[in-house]
Amino acid sequence: MSCVNKSVCKICRRENLKLFLKGERCYTDKCSFERRPYPPGQHGQSRLKFSEFALQLREKQKTKRYYGVSEKQFRRYVGFAEKSKEVTGLALLKNLEQRLDNVVATLGFASSRKDARQIVSHGHVLVNGKKVNIPSYSVVKGDTIQISGNGKEMARVMAAVQGAAKRTIPSWLEVDHGALKGIVKDLPGREEITLPVEENMIVEYYSR
Ligand code: SF4
Repeated sequence: MSCVNKSVCKICRRENLKLFLKGERCYTDKCSFERRPYPPGQHGQSRLKFSEFALQLREKQKTKRYYGVSEKQFRRYVGFAEKSKEVTGLALLKNLEQRLDNVVATLGFASSRKDARQIVSHGHVLVNGKKVNIPSYSVVKGDTIQISGNGKEMARVMAAVQGAAKRTIPSWLEVDHGALKGIVKDLPGREEITLPVEENMIVEYYSR
């Protein structure tokens, strides 16, 4: 994961958005953003006026941090999206959403994207029955995602599944928590990507 350290909650407060970086805590009233929904620091509660550039930068930063990718990786995603036949901003979000670590977290097999990344890179995830240990692997329609035998033993997977049972998953995915298995029914549409972001501002940021 990119620059996420102990003060991850400050990142949410900086972006003025819950980015769900801390696992189950994010769904409880211990969430720092719920208690202090304003940016950290001395001027956190002041009304600041942002330039167009600053607004574009914030949209880019919050998306990058939500998916937990580095600047270099994010730029690469923007490059792929620019070559796509789809609208660039939408292609960018779809590519990020299709990352294996994001899908593992969204299916509820991990409590956060960071946790999902570790579960994938430690080889506990099977895609169509084969081990895939690349968090950036892009899932496609029809893929089955399953936690492997070793992974099933992991207390954190089971704890994540218990927490996730109360949450709804987007309609492009289907999950069987008992079998620790998910299916990619379709590719994500814009309405199913819940991150509140103006993706066109990210494209503008990189086209400067
Ligand atoms: Fe963000 Fe709240 Fe989770 Fe902290 S607990 S990472 S503020 S969503």
